[in-house]
Amino acid sequence: MATRDDILVELGLAPTWRRRIPVATAPPPLQDGESRSARIGSLSWTDFATDVDACTACGLCRSRNKSVPGVGDTNAEWMFVGEAPGAEEDARGEPFVGQAGRLLDNMLAALGIARGRNVYIANVLKCRPPNNRAPEPSESDACRPYLERQVELIRPKLIVALGKSAASLLLNTDATIASLRGRVHQYRGVPLVVTYHPAYLLRNLPDKAKAWEDMLLARRTVATSLGPTSSNALPVAETP
Ligand code: URA
Repeated sequence: MATRDDILVELGLAPTWRRRIPVATAPPPLQDGESRSARIGSLSWTDFATDVDACTACGLCRSRNKSVPGVGDTNAEWMFVGEAPGAEEDARGEPFVGQAGRLLDNMLAALGIARGRNVYIANVLKCRPPNNRAPEPSESDACRPYLERQVELIRPKLIVALGKSAASLLLNTDATIASLRGRVHQYRGVPLVVTYHPAYLLRNLPDKAKAWEDMLLARRTVATSLGPTSSNALPVAETP
């Protein structure tokens, strides 16, 4: 008895094509937090800013004008970490360019440091929160891998945490700035000093003297540090 294929040959309709069993397609790229952190953790400087600019890990990507990855000497001994870009930073894509930034530049100048030489400046958040509100924990968590990667790439001799957001994220604590000042902490083997945020100092002028004491502690720490992984002679605070 003729088969279906024989009949189709007779009718001039052969060869026949059959649908193949679908071949498994490659799995979509993993988007979970772990794989994202691993990807960011292997970024080079060449790709860093582009990656931040393409980030959509939190809602701030919808309201930002420009992302603000960070600025400065990528071989710096000093690294300053603030909270988040404000309006001027969001417009220019550079951290600390507004009024608080001018005070930070003056603090740097008093230490004999100029922006761009031996100092790197970054924020906990790389995008501006609307109306300059404080970062949400979910936003800080989403941005954390970028700051971690910056510290890894720079390996500064010292980090200065400017204000509560930076201190809380880097030291994993809710303690007040007042209680964290005056000691050298450690962040992943890098000495870290906590001081007031320049925007706070603009509203609380008497505390500028305390911030200057913090800068002097920072300078001594850099001077005595042999490198990020070395133990140094200064008393080192316990961090959680
Ligand atoms: N305040 C910050 O914490 N960072 C900036 O870049 C500007 C103001």
